[in-house]
Amino acid sequence: PALVRIRGVSRRFRDTVALDGVDLDIAAGEFFALLGPSGCGKTTLLRVLAGLEHPDSGTVTLDGRDLLSVPAHRRPVNLMFQSYALFPHMSVERNIAYGLARERLPRAEIRERVAAVLATVGLGTEARRMPHQLSGGQRQRVALARAIVKRPRLLLLDEPLSALDKNVRAEMQLELKRLQHEAGITFLVVTHDQEEAMSLADRIAVLDRGRVLQVDTPVGLYRRPRGRFVAGFVGSNNLFRGRLRASGGLEVPGVGVLPAPVGAEAGATAGAAIVAVRPEGVRLAAADAHGTVGAEAVLSGTVLDVSFHGGSSRIAVTVAGLETPVLVTTSGPATVTAGARVTLSWDADSAVLIE
Ligand code: ADP
Ligand code: MG
Repeated sequence: PALVRIRGVSRRFRDTVALDGVDLDIAAGEFFALLGPSGCGKTTLLRVLAGLEHPDSGTVTLDGRDLLSVPAHRRPVNLMFQSYALFPHMSVERNIAYGLARERLPRAEIRERVAAVLATVGLGTEARRMPHQLSGGQRQRVALARAIVKRPRLLLLDEPLSALDKNVRAEMQLELKRLQHEAGITFLVVTHDQEEAMSLADRIAVLDRGRVLQVDTPVGLYRRPRGRFVAGFVGSNNLFRGRLRASGGLEVPGVGVLPAPVGAEAGATAGAAIVAVRPEGVRLAAADAHGTVGAEAVLSGTVLDVSFHGGSSRIAVTVAGLETPVLVTTSGPATVTAGARVTLSWDADSAVLIE
């Protein structure tokens, strides 16, 4: 059963369509991510859920009850802003207690809940410090503590880690997941960073120009992207344009026939098509090595560039007839250098029909 049910939500600002008929279901206890480029409507959707913005049309329910008619401050929803907006003149514990104090909870209960949440975010010893005495990661934790201490049903996080250094960010990703699990609160996080969405979320909705293009698990999105936009946005894909043949292969003009992609069997009609192949799904072999790769080779080309990224290498291969180089990822250092003649091949299940 969905905790949050969003149906046909649209919001327009003059001639900008920020949200265009958004439908989404978010389950209770889920860690859900909205992923999309800057300006695609992510913040607007969070503001609609938080009650800071009213949609032009559409409905939103929480636990089956209409949410849009509930004033912002009465919603069991909390929004953590992009900038943490801590009160600079208040200590860590007063920052966190603020919302509870406004609700006039008994002092003893406030003390207890603040102490518990401080321990949860690992700031037990920083309670008396002022925001300016904290690191970026610690300020982030205070903002999180402040958001979860009120025990909302739904916590909205707008680009929560974007202000942090890269190494702190990886640590905070783990922290966020642990917190979400421990607090048992449904999280809806917004990000333009696909790696972040994939590492955090149980499910991801990809947004473009106010529309939801695909909702899936990280693995599902990665393996079966629907459409060019998702395929390009989630991971980097090699895209091949051509014509699907009745026999299943993809005929690419000036290049040849590529193996039948996944999805082509399922009643896809012959005709113009785009096939995506993951860089890590492509095998690369030196063209002159023992002559054993010939039988399975799909393409041949020349290495344009090799770069090493620690755990993996990325190799760009120029193929006659293709506008852009084919990207190949291999684990560890590459065994080829620029200028080498190579052949490329891949298994049928590494190629996905996306359009
Ligand atoms: P994102 O968070 O994905 O970057 P936003 O939801 O902030 O995107 O914005 C979506 C679109 O709506 C953008 O084109 C933005 O300029 C526009 N927009 C958002 N809020 C307003 C506003 N209050 N007035 C006018 N345009 C707005
Ligand atoms: Mg935004």
